[in-house]
Amino acid sequence: MIRKILVANRGEIAMRVIRACRELGIATAAIYAESDATAIYVKKANEAYLVGPGPVQGYLDARQIVGLAKRIRADAIHPGYGFLAENGEFASLCAEAGITFIGPSPTALALLGDKVKARELAGKVGVPIVPGTSGSVSSLDEAMAFCHQTGYPVMVKASAGGGGRGLRVVRSDHELKEAMDAGAREALAAFGNGELFLEKYIERPHHIEFQLLADKKGYIIHLGERDCSIQRRHQKLIEIAPSLVLTPRLRAEMGEAAIALARAANFHNTGTIEFLLDQDGKYYFMEMNPRIQVEHTVTEQITAVDIVQSQIWIASGMPLVFGQHEVSLQGYAIQCRINAEDPQNGFRPSKGKITAYFSPGGIGVRIDGQVYKDFSVPPYYDALLAKLTVHGRTWDETVRRTHRSLEEFLLRGVKTTIPFMTKIMEEPDFRAGRFDTSYLDSHPMLYDYEEMVEPVDLVVALSAAIAAYEGL
Ligand code: ADP
Ligand code: ADP
Ligand code: MG
Repeated sequence: MIRKILVANRGEIAMRVIRACRELGIATAAIYAESDATAIYVKKANEAYLVGPGPVQGYLDARQIVGLAKRIRADAIHPGYGFLAENGEFASLCAEAGITFIGPSPTALALLGDKVKARELAGKVGVPIVPGTSGSVSSLDEAMAFCHQTGYPVMVKASAGGGGRGLRVVRSDHELKEAMDAGAREALAAFGNGELFLEKYIERPHHIEFQLLADKKGYIIHLGERDCSIQRRHQKLIEIAPSLVLTPRLRAEMGEAAIALARAANFHNTGTIEFLLDQDGKYYFMEMNPRIQVEHTVTEQITAVDIVQSQIWIASGMPLVFGQHEVSLQGYAIQCRINAEDPQNGFRPSKGKITAYFSPGGIGVRIDGQVYKDFSVPPYYDALLAKLTVHGRTWDETVRRTHRSLEEFLLRGVKTTIPFMTKIMEEPDFRAGRFDTSYLDSHPMLYDYEEMVEPVDLVVALSAAIAAYEGL
């Protein structure tokens, strides 16, 4: 039985886990770096512990975290996403200390963290994979041979990659060497492993991923799919559930493929199988993410399943209490990542103090946030300020509701993706469901907007001026 969980993460996902625990009557312990001392999740946890040194190292220090969990008598650790979530050694350390790691086994993590091994496994169980090199490539000649055999364009990928890093599209011989050198350098710096492999580059696909729940008894179901095709530089910006392009037959087939793959990996807990769906309706396995994902909220809204609570339930050894036929997908959900970035300046991170904050509400609106008025956004972490997830009965209603919510969303002091997202909700192709991973590149007009100045901004500006004057 789990009575206390140490949340080994920060920001909105730490808050998400704390909320799940509160509903389950489980105590929570947060960890925080000095630079996160004023974060909401630190205040909302039952206990909070400073970890260091510096803004990042404490969140990555497996020994320090497991040691702390033992000292404070936590029964389990939830790793969130990013940081240590996919680290097999961290999961092993937890097991050695007698602490439940809320995630899959160390062996499954090691297997799935390596994209080359995951592709091999998919091949073995008969799940289609993107045509690619049969393992990592060690020389330019080997890579060149693959390109000539398959034809351009190809994609250079890092075996250990994640978060959209280490990916390069190559369209001709003379681009290949540079792409491989840069890819290896980037992968080595980001993941400590410079191993690369090559895949055929699929033009204008949909990114379709299936959400899985798998208990420790080997029972596995899926909660339908998400369409995460609205991406910038291979990073997701907007996620949608269910997909507008999948037929019920294709959904069933891809869902079964995802389950077969998870079963072959001896997978338990929650994870996502990512596929590419090409223009001809053919699907290919891309990778598995063996953890909670940022975009799990859209699946929760259309299935009414709490995925984080399911994770905790499964980790404590309980069997899933509902079957595949009891999962039904109701309506549509859209998630917008509200990032502290300036889309009009290459999505440059925008740091500073939040001077005004009012989040939208009303029917079908969900906020998973981490900021408040007067909060200073620390410059050391990813730019996600809040996730706006909107649920509606039809696609059209969901888009209109998302648009209305974005218009209501007041967040000042830093540049955000809100006006850009608003433009997307107004754009005819998006509204008609005509989009794939090329959408942002093929719609430059989305960047053409002027930020609204509202009366409240004038009040904020005025009070800042008065404060400055009085300070003289
Ligand atoms: P990461 O681990 O960084 O998430 P993925 O392998 O999941 O990397 O790929 C991220 C994104 O890059 C995909 O969602 C897709 O848009 C694009 N992508 C990856 N592989 C291919 C491919 N073979 N062809 C076309 N696009 C691809
Ligand atoms: P995906 O990896 O499919 O894009 P998410 O959007 O849920 O899935 O990513 C979760 C977070 O973890 C993001 O902030 C992403 O940048 C980060 N992340 C994912 N994989 C890695 C990795 N291997 N190394 C570092 N960061 C990662
Ligand atoms: Mg991915």
